[in-house]
Amino acid sequence: MNKDSGFMKALKCRECGREYPLEATHVCEFDFGPLEVAYDYDKIKKTLTKDALSERPQTMWRFRELLPIAGEPTVGTGVGYTPLIKADRLAKWLGIREAWVKNDAVNYPTLSFKDRVVSVALSRARELGFTTVACASTGNLANSVAANAASAGMDSFVFIPADLEKGKILNSLIYGARVVGIRGHYDEVNRLCAEIAGKYGWAFVNVNMRPYYAEGSKSMAFEIAEQLNWKLPQHTVVPMASGSLLTKIHKGYQELIKLGLANDTQPTVHGAQATGCSPISAAFKEGKDFFKPVKPNTIAKSLAIGTPADGFYALKVMKETGGASDDVSDDEIRDAMKALAECEGIFTETAGGVTVGSAKKLIASGKIPAEDSVVLCVTGNGLKTLDAVQGHVGKPDEIKPSLREFEALIESDSKIKTK
Ligand SMILES: *Cc1c(COP(=O)(O)O)cnc(C)c1O
Ligand SMILES: [Zn+2]
Repeated sequence: MNKDSGFMKALKCRECGREYPLEATHVCEFDFGPLEVAYDYDKIKKTLTKDALSERPQTMWRFRELLPIAGEPTVGTGVGYTPLIKADRLAKWLGIREAWVKNDAVNYPTLSFKDRVVSVALSRARELGFTTVACASTGNLANSVAANAASAGMDSFVFIPADLEKGKILNSLIYGARVVGIRGHYDEVNRLCAEIAGKYGWAFVNVNMRPYYAEGSKSMAFEIAEQLNWKLPQHTVVPMASGSLLTKIHKGYQELIKLGLANDTQPTVHGAQATGCSPISAAFKEGKDFFKPVKPNTIAKSLAIGTPADGFYALKVMKETGGASDDVSDDEIRDAMKALAECEGIFTETAGGVTVGSAKKLIASGKIPAEDSVVLCVTGNGLKTLDAVQGHVGKPDEIKPSLREFEALIESDSKIKTK
């Protein structure tokens, strides 16, 4: 074990268990299995206690021992600790006794859950001596890499499908990142990035840095558990693109159990996808262990990955925890976005509509029992996907600046309360 590696032990192959040094590498040389960070939990147990936590700042880095950096974080030190809202009105709409919303739509600094993974990947990239960072992105990752790299004084390259939402593209350009639009879908962007990463000495957060990057997602689970006063939720519904977030939320809960911070109440993890890109959900419904790649066609572009890297492991987690998966059409996504906005005052992007809409279906079918409690992971902000709801939320009334015109407007609508 390397003395300078903090609480990390090694990178370990998820398939054969072979160990690798803690470098910028992500696949096993023997079986091409994905590498994952292994920790020294005995060492972690000594410092990560509820007492210690009570004195730490409210960011995701309060769980620093369980995040894969050797020293202290240097990028994205203010990320995380987003609100967990008790959503009583939404629970009624969903048809369930109790619902909570973990609101990463207001994560800092770029309004999506991706700030969690990026702060980890960039802090680790710096430790490994990189000065240029890059990513293959469906949008939110590009925004977060661009912003966090800017604040750290690092150079960044972000690769995206060229037909992404305008809001997502602008939200990368503003930070001075080099934005490269690829005329193709995400899976083609990703394949190209694997080649580029092999050729240029950059830290690709979701390619050669993927083992570190992916661990950042666990922080969402840690926060949910702490915000529920260390009682793990019965059900958690998670949107799936590559499937990584879902597997890491499960890993996060299991680590808290292992460390004795939470009791093993067997938390169930469910997946959500857009029907227009639902390789994982389709495989789950057919009872298969492997997904069939698809060509995405959905307004939920941030989830549009047709060949999900962690799809196999996401299927396994859902099966092992007694969870299920469902998916929703573009219209159902918009309806769910409106329901969340009207019930709770939270404007989420399309991915949040996927989570809320799929949760409704899972509840209706009894996969999530109506007498239970559920946490919904809302992962992105609606201001970035305005195109998706444009024309679907009505129009403002327009009148002259005259009281008479306003009175006429009010009288024409019998539903309006005048007192
Ligand atoms: C990236 C992303 C996810 C989940 O991605 P995974 O690849 O499954 O980890 C969920 N929601 C939003 C908004 C995202 O940008
Ligand atoms: Zn291996």
